[in-house]
Amino acid sequence: MSGIKDFIKMDKPDGYYEKLVSELEALNSRFHMFSYVNKGIRSGVPFSVKDNICVMDVESTASSDILDGYMPPFDATAVERMRDGGFGFIGKTKMDEFGFGTFGINCKDHPLNPANERHVTGGSSAGAAAAAAVMKYHVSVAESTGGSISCPASFCGVVGFTPTYGLVSRYGLIDYANSLDKIGIIARNTPDIRYVFDRIKGSDGYDTTCVDSKISGDARGKLAVVDELMKGVEQDVLDAFDRLLSKLQNMGYEVVHRSIPLLEKSVPAYYIISMAEASTNLAKYTGFKYGHKVADFSKGYDEFFTEARKSFGLEAKRRIVLGTFVRSASVKSRYYEKALRLRHMLIDALGAVLKEGFIISPTMPIKAPTVKEAEEMDPVTEYSMDSITAPPNLAGLPHISFPYDYINGLPLGAQLVTGHFNDYALLDFTERWEESFNYKFKYNVGSL
Ligand code: GLN
Repeated sequence: MSGIKDFIKMDKPDGYYEKLVSELEALNSRFHMFSYVNKGIRSGVPFSVKDNICVMDVESTASSDILDGYMPPFDATAVERMRDGGFGFIGKTKMDEFGFGTFGINCKDHPLNPANERHVTGGSSAGAAAAAAVMKYHVSVAESTGGSISCPASFCGVVGFTPTYGLVSRYGLIDYANSLDKIGIIARNTPDIRYVFDRIKGSDGYDTTCVDSKISGDARGKLAVVDELMKGVEQDVLDAFDRLLSKLQNMGYEVVHRSIPLLEKSVPAYYIISMAEASTNLAKYTGFKYGHKVADFSKGYDEFFTEARKSFGLEAKRRIVLGTFVRSASVKSRYYEKALRLRHMLIDALGAVLKEGFIISPTMPIKAPTVKEAEEMDPVTEYSMDSITAPPNLAGLPHISFPYDYINGLPLGAQLVTGHFNDYALLDFTERWEESFNYKFKYNVGSL
């Protein structure tokens, strides 16, 4: 499969970028993956940026009305490194507001799945995955807090890589939950991901949590299937996953079965910690320095803040209320502190299995639902859909979602997890898988 390294070497016909933009805009009016398309792109490998990552002088709102009109006066470090690395900015991709969601529908004119537009793209990096699915030579810079790269990558049939926490600078990221947020990459193949990762990783004076650690690629011959991750997986997804395991066994991997009972607590622990941090991060949108400005200062305290904060969407409001509750003095030890302890126990429990080999599972327990099914799902059921993607995110572990099958044209992704800073081992694994797997893309905008 040709990728961005080939693109760099190929001659582009006159008007290549103009044609790319016009084809993209036509598809965007159907699939709504971009909130902004850069008509001025004239060089470089096209890269898109999730809307919660700042791009200088381009509206960056994290798909929230409260940030309507916000034009960052700077580039996020990851964006700056992409530009320095010879990439050309093609646009901002839509997402669930502030990253709050699993299906990509918590925003205006939400993206639709290019594989079948009756279905959701997955979220929260909804537009990022859909953009990678329609464009031949392009990479998406995206972000995951609790699965926002893996989930849409699996539903859209592309590769989604979430590095070890702290390997890519978060400077210029509009925070959701700081101890969980990671910038990562969505692309059509692993070599493209590796190429981008090597350019954006590494320490940054603007983000002291970002490190320069040595990244290994220790090959693991064992694949651990963990019982608790398989609970609740739909039957046809389970059948397809069994076929994947047989193929991997034929490739020489040994499949072993393990149990980590603690995993059943990872969804509540993830939502307690992420909501606690989110409610703190959203507290700054008061209408003074950040957020929707209210000019009328004659109103009382309650009226003023009700007005200033009314443009948060329903899910953001829900998380502000729940997040404020779980960290309030009277219940903090029952919820927030317990969740933090659980997170540490989980890191140890996962670490013990990861010493033996990779952990492999389907990425999502279900196929991409239809928009209607997703809209009708209640919040707690939606949160439970993160049962497989939340654990590696909670533990800061690198993971990758790669396409491995299709059911009635809907892509399926598998998730591979390894130990901290062993990120290259994931890329080596999926690169090998791609040698025999036949990707199906309906659109190839920008092909040469
Ligand atoms: N679905 C998860 C949530 O809503 C993950 C979102 C994310 O990673 N940004 O929190």
